[in-house]
Amino acid sequence: MQGNGSNNFNFMKPNKIIRSKRKTLSLTINENAELVIRAPLKLPIKKIQDFINEKENWINRKKRLIENQIKDITNNKNKLLYLGSLFPIKIKQNTSKELIFTGDEFIANSIEPTSLSLLIKAWYKNKFREIALPRVAYYVQQHKLTINQVRIKNQKTMWGSCSSKNNINLNYLLIMAPIEVIDYVIVHELAHTIHRNHSFDFWSSVESIMPDYKEHKQWLKANGYKLRKV
Ligand SMILES: [Zn+2]
Repeated sequence: MQGNGSNNFNFMKPNKIIRSKRKTLSLTINENAELVIRAPLKLPIKKIQDFINEKENWINRKKRLIENQIKDITNNKNKLLYLGSLFPIKIKQNTSKELIFTGDEFIANSIEPTSLSLLIKAWYKNKFREIALPRVAYYVQQHKLTINQVRIKNQKTMWGSCSSKNNINLNYLLIMAPIEVIDYVIVHELAHTIHRNHSFDFWSSVESIMPDYKEHKQWLKANGYKLRKV
């Protein structure tokens, strides 16, 4: 799949072309590092190839990034991420509790991958609730904000959201991130109770509550992929 812009006979091929009633051409690298093209129904293949050739450097860069992320996740398959650190997970079938965290390692009593994954999810979700809810309450009180409900969910694409009725949703996979990053997402969503957009005033509010928020926002951008696989 290595393309070469200077040679017309040796071009990069997409892994998938999805044709639909759209008007524009789009190109993405999916989580398996595959090149996916979305194209209008009748657009000639030549046009698609020209577009790919034009974006070849970007495609290669993005593919390498995702490939490295896949490698990183595979290398750490037997470890669990918790509050920004990796801990080994060991299986001991006679333990009474299904999943425990000793402070140094996780011990699970199941070797069956599906039930192990369910155990981990449940543990993460409970732990996130335990850690995040008091922090939401703290910021609400400290900055005299008004919120309605806080819901802990697994939102596939979002770390958090704030509805027009000030219901705050938080993604429990954030339990894998450092505590400051969890705080940043909480502060971000709470600031939406004041500003419904991402305007300059919104970011000023975030900064007034959390002066070093940029560092944590950046962490999430660079490491967010690590928080998705359970
Ligand atoms: Zn936002």
